[in-house]
Amino acid sequence: MTTEREFLLQTGMVNRAVFAGIQPDDCVVWKRVPGGYRNHSMCNHTCAVEVGGRPTGGNYVCDASFVFAKGSLPGFAPREDIVRWTKNVAIAHAVARDMFFARHFATYCEEFHIPLAWADAIKAELTDPNKKVEVNRFGGSPEMLKDCPAIIADCKVAGLVVNLTTPGRRFMTDQQFVEDIAHNPPNILAMSFDDMNPKELERISKMSLDEIKAEWKTVSPLHGQRQKAFEGMYAARIMRDMNVPSTVLFNVVIHPGNVGYLNDILATIVECVPGSLANPYPAQSFGNDASCWTLESLPALRSHVTGFIHGTLEGRPGVTRRLHYYMTLESAFRKWKHDPKRLCEFMSGIGAWDSTARPGAYRYAQVGKNTEVLDVPQDRLPVPGGHLGCFWNPGWALSEHVGDNVEELAETMLTGMVKRGQELGGVRKSNIMPRLMFDVVATELGLPTELVPEYLATRREYAGF
Ligand code: SF4
Repeated sequence: MTTEREFLLQTGMVNRAVFAGIQPDDCVVWKRVPGGYRNHSMCNHTCAVEVGGRPTGGNYVCDASFVFAKGSLPGFAPREDIVRWTKNVAIAHAVARDMFFARHFATYCEEFHIPLAWADAIKAELTDPNKKVEVNRFGGSPEMLKDCPAIIADCKVAGLVVNLTTPGRRFMTDQQFVEDIAHNPPNILAMSFDDMNPKELERISKMSLDEIKAEWKTVSPLHGQRQKAFEGMYAARIMRDMNVPSTVLFNVVIHPGNVGYLNDILATIVECVPGSLANPYPAQSFGNDASCWTLESLPALRSHVTGFIHGTLEGRPGVTRRLHYYMTLESAFRKWKHDPKRLCEFMSGIGAWDSTARPGAYRYAQVGKNTEVLDVPQDRLPVPGGHLGCFWNPGWALSEHVGDNVEELAETMLTGMVKRGQELGGVRKSNIMPRLMFDVVATELGLPTELVPEYLATRREYAGF
């Protein structure tokens, strides 16, 4: 018989190796805006639907796109600051974990009807002294930082599990970078295949490295989604040819344009890049943008969600294990089956999971930009980035940089974020990014109260408690 602990691990409701995470945006710069300077996430790609009124071929818009970088000043935060912020947050996570179990765990178990045996299993897993903190180096394109390999190495020395999410261009253009990454590789190298159809993917996977590079040069610089597919394939192949032990993972944003043939994309990725994993998740709307999901595209999305639930429970290969996440989406489909507008909003991340909702939800901390405008001379600007907040909704990020007082930092991550969320009321704080929703505890603690009863019924059905 499967024990509670085994079930939690097998379904990904609790992570096997890590108890908390950090997602830093390493690519924050200052940008000139009316009234002064503001932090800006910068990327060397452009992922847009149109530029100057002309379609690019891309299916979504990213605010970090290079075409939006006008007014940006050169200069990311130095390696020392980036590493110090990460290390401080990692230590604070351990302190916050103790505070959470001492002060908030009982309330959590009561609100979410966690039976004693399951509560004991969750606590035993999350307080396992062998579990570490994971950092996912992230941002527009963290490989743009000269010190990207050194930052990875520093974080590994600090005892973190280090992942790198990046488009992969530098693997094609900088041999020294390839060697440095191969010498001290990340645990996971995550790239993306967003706007590719399975046939194209298969075609690229059969090319030699030189052919991939030659065709990549012909892609419009305004079609970043397509550039990334060539770059990602090249990086995956060169890492495999060099026997680098990193797991290659391809993020696949599910959107109304590809939801109909998602299964083909996932199967093609796993087949064409042997040993790789595919990580599908629904597209999000940024900030105050309207819902990116439409009523017509929802039935296809739901069938994937229920397929992923059953695939997880059956241990089917190729399915990313995160039962808590799929149950959340399924419960929303059930709750708002007669309210398509609300359902589309939820699936787009609006009024959805909120890391400021309750203490303990913010367990995949994000360090990056905020939205404050500083009216100071350019040479008096502080280091860009370094603010606890949220990449997707930077409006609620904190003013100060991540500090060195880890007790204070832990309190901020545990309860300060909840206060911040309440103070900012109307500012959007929610998303449905699976990595940030992290595990069953963080996911449940960020659920909108109105969804909790339906979620608990769904959990009872699939998880048995
Ligand atoms: S590569 Fe990623 S971060 Fe860069 S513009 Fe495209 S979607 Fe945005």
